[in-house]
Amino acid sequence: MNKNIARKSILLIEDEENIRSFISTTLKNQNYKITTAANGEEGLHLAASLCPELVLLDLGLPDMDGMNVIEKLRTWTAVPVIVISARSDEHEKARALDSGADDYITKPFSTVELLARIRTSLRHSSQMQDVSSIYQKPYHYKNLAISFENHVVTLGDEMIHLTQIEYKLLTLLAKNSGKVLTYTYIMEKIWGPYTDGNNQILRVNMANIRRKIEKNPAVPEYVFTEIGIGYRMAESD
Ligand code: CA
Repeated sequence: MNKNIARKSILLIEDEENIRSFISTTLKNQNYKITTAANGEEGLHLAASLCPELVLLDLGLPDMDGMNVIEKLRTWTAVPVIVISARSDEHEKARALDSGADDYITKPFSTVELLARIRTSLRHSSQMQDVSSIYQKPYHYKNLAISFENHVVTLGDEMIHLTQIEYKLLTLLAKNSGKVLTYTYIMEKIWGPYTDGNNQILRVNMANIRRKIEKNPAVPEYVFTEIGIGYRMAESD
């Protein structure tokens, strides 16, 4: 770990003490600066006074619904929020993402998974603040490469021909690689705000993209389905 890099500060809002101390210890060991809150009110207060670089938020809090915490945070800050949820309810996770959460992690989770989600969210938020968001780096993972500048998608040596919609869809996922994007978010970005909420057109386009880029579309290497929620593209190198 590079000691010259300022330690990133993380606020953890979680009422269960054992989970709170497990996450705190894990993150301290990784050289993150961590502050904890046991309820939503305290969490919101600390977020405003400390301005952390990332918030880890449990959805089931004693004093308020985690969803309200996200909504309140989003009135004044774009700080990345990763939702920690015991709920296996996909609808709930999708709602948290659509309310402005950046990602979610389901209990029980591994340390490796937690750290990967944190790194991805921090990387995305720092990209939003510097020039790399204006000069988007090409996407590259395994054999797949996308040059946003030249509008070229290649798989190994082969150029992949995509329709305009397929290209828009794939690049939206690639520019957010490592992050889950909800069906609602994708539909709005690609087809505009007046879509009827039917995901069929999205599924059809995704199936076509997969036939073009995946060796085995049933076992994708590049674009993963988060069942009931949306899609996540493998993180770019
Ligand atoms: Ca809880």
